[in-house]
Amino acid sequence: MKLSTKIFLAMLLGVIVGSLLNVFSGVTESFIAELSTWLVDSIFDLVGQIFVASLKLLVVPLVFVSLVCGSSAMGANARMGRMAVKTLGLYMLTTALAITLALMLANVINPGEGIELGNAGAYQPTEPPSLKSVLINIFPTNPVKAMVEGNMLQIIVFSILMGVAVTHSGAAGEKALEVFQSFNEVIMKMVAFLMHLAPYGVFCLLAKLFSELGLSAILDLALYFATVALVLVLHAAGVYSLLLNLFTRLNPITFFKNVRPAMLFAFSTASSNATIPVTMNVARERVGVDNGIASFTVPLGATINMDGTAIMQGVATVFISQAYNVDISMGGYLAVIATATLASVGTAGVPGVGLITLSMVLQQAGLPVEGIALIIGVDRLLDMMRTAINVSGDCMVSTVVANGEGLVDKTVFSEVSDRDEYVEG
Ligand code: ASP
Repeated sequence: MKLSTKIFLAMLLGVIVGSLLNVFSGVTESFIAELSTWLVDSIFDLVGQIFVASLKLLVVPLVFVSLVCGSSAMGANARMGRMAVKTLGLYMLTTALAITLALMLANVINPGEGIELGNAGAYQPTEPPSLKSVLINIFPTNPVKAMVEGNMLQIIVFSILMGVAVTHSGAAGEKALEVFQSFNEVIMKMVAFLMHLAPYGVFCLLAKLFSELGLSAILDLALYFATVALVLVLHAAGVYSLLLNLFTRLNPITFFKNVRPAMLFAFSTASSNATIPVTMNVARERVGVDNGIASFTVPLGATINMDGTAIMQGVATVFISQAYNVDISMGGYLAVIATATLASVGTAGVPGVGLITLSMVLQQAGLPVEGIALIIGVDRLLDMMRTAINVSGDCMVSTVVANGEGLVDKTVFSEVSDRDEYVEG
């Protein structure tokens, strides 16, 4: 069986087993209830956490090493600058489109009408970071500290500087590059090893989650949930397919088949950051994006490009405004689009942060931040779904940027979805 099929089946099984355990744990004082608690706490949680830790373990060395190789390959010429500008532009554009689509559809579906404001007020808002501090924070004072803290933007800046310096260092630079290239191979091999364990890890993560997830919370917020889900799907199937076709003429269906493993990992971990090793592997080995481009666009995207998150924030804004009966003007909506696009840059690619930066957007719209309490119950599941979209957006932009430079391997792109290329690393 292909590995991607195995991962998919493991996910499905995880959801089923988890949901069954959720039902059983409601039956008190039975042997089965005890058994299910033991299974969840001692087995699923253990394996799931070790799996995510092993994924995260690869992120910093992978990004550092492959971006040094990548940026030295690109050289310190106009190409590097052009690629960076295009990438940033596309990341912003897709996020702005995402939130606009979310606001429009939410205003048609009206998910917040007739909502009871029962338990609102229970949410304690966390202070979102200011734009100025976000910008200053891109520049590292200490690269080791940046790596210890896993600060992706700082690592990106440092690695690019190093890669550019490598190109300009003559013979010494060549030697250094050889070392980096060898390490790059080794780390990709580690990613490949980990992929083999993915079905077990993914199964445990989902079984634990669904054993705790009461489905009743979702039923209460069914319309909100469905609206976010609908916009996520429309954005990926519509906007991404359109942009991909417009800029590259590549087949969107093949594209989504190729990026599926990254989306599955993103869904299971709810973290774009933890998924970086898989996204990078998928971009290179399945979509055919050149390493010079992918090593820059993928970690950057995982850090600043969050279309799915912006969609949740757009629908949540409309939902909360309707629940609290506050009208938002046209100008208010435009400000929400701008704020959510910037909030997406400031949202770290880890679980649940989109909910924190949502407070920025709500404040901008003059809405009560406590409204977040209304939607928190279903956020975990939506977090998984939006992270899958976040990651597929990173891949889409990577493909468009690489194609602009003539750096997409079309043979890999069109043939690989039938093979398990990423297993080989
Ligand atoms: N979990 C999301 C991600 O990692 C961020 C969020 O929306 O909370 O991409």
